[in-house]
Amino acid sequence: VLGEFALIDQFFKRAPQRAVLGVGDDCALVEITKGQQLAVTTDMLVEGRHFFKAADPYRLGWKCLAVNLSDLAAMGAQPRYFTLSLAVPSADAAWLAPFSKGLFALADAHGMELIGGDTTAGPLTISITALGEVPPGHALTRSGAQPSDEIWLSHEIGGAVLRLNECWERTTLTPTHRQALLQRMEAPEPRVALGLALRGIASAAIDLSDGLSGDLGHLLRASRVGATVRLADIPTHEAVRNRLQTAERALAIQCLLAGGDDYELIFTAPASAHETIGRQLQALSLSGGVIGTIQAGAGLTALDEFGAALPLPKSFDHFSA
Ligand code: ADP
Ligand code: MG
Repeated sequence: VLGEFALIDQFFKRAPQRAVLGVGDDCALVEITKGQQLAVTTDMLVEGRHFFKAADPYRLGWKCLAVNLSDLAAMGAQPRYFTLSLAVPSADAAWLAPFSKGLFALADAHGMELIGGDTTAGPLTISITALGEVPPGHALTRSGAQPSDEIWLSHEIGGAVLRLNECWERTTLTPTHRQALLQRMEAPEPRVALGLALRGIASAAIDLSDGLSGDLGHLLRASRVGATVRLADIPTHEAVRNRLQTAERALAIQCLLAGGDDYELIFTAPASAHETIGRQLQALSLSGGVIGTIQAGAGLTALDEFGAALPLPKSFDHFSA
């Protein structure tokens, strides 16, 4: 059988690229680019909580790094390094091989280097800490939104959580949508290039992990402002949009306003940046757009197609139902 250190060597140790010292010593050593700040983020994924027991290991490896890259993207940080803390029930090469493949596929796509971690036996849990760099004063924080700023969403949302609702037997997808949405749910594309492009342009940003109402709510509270968003302007996955005029309208609205797992960016910017941002989204083949406006005050209002206020469904929270 595979021992702990053979497991690390076989699946997670690669020759250092930018790092001074990578996997294998008591610490990794990295040089920070002169004049840059370090952006640091951690996300943990727990089996049965964040993913199903039968989750495909390749896509799981991808996703656990993607959720961290999404946080770096939301900060406008350039991804550099990550560590991986892994609890696995057993040293199963048939699971570890595709898991590390998916992990490194996304890491390589963003020039990210695995520099260390920890490996133990236990219930399947994956925790990644990601490190990125950002010039001082250029990080996209949650707290910079100003009244009259436009609120942007990077790309269509609602799809990942619609697929999750099918898993819960609350809806049935066409085979084409099921395939497409499985991809959105299990292998999201972190919007790193967009986050970098928005440096110096966006006034505030956050990534969508728990649902629009909750995540935009965090941004509004951090910025001490309020906002109105229009349902009809939310870039919406076709499978969700198709449901808006059917008996599944409530589910579709729930997916848009409170659905999680999108990993798109919500950001704000003055209207003077409108053309620039539109061009940036287009250059990145993203079908994002303006979904609303920041206003003085507090709280979030969502308007339906007729301009009436929608009751806001609650976004995901691990400790409240
Ligand atoms: P220590 O006992 O000093 O914590 P470990 O024996 O846990 O070190 O790990 C040995 C080396 O392997 C360290 O450099 C650690 O960073 C690295 N490592 C352990 N697990 C992983 C992993 N899952 N992915 C990448 N590196 C790992
Ligand atoms: Mg250790």
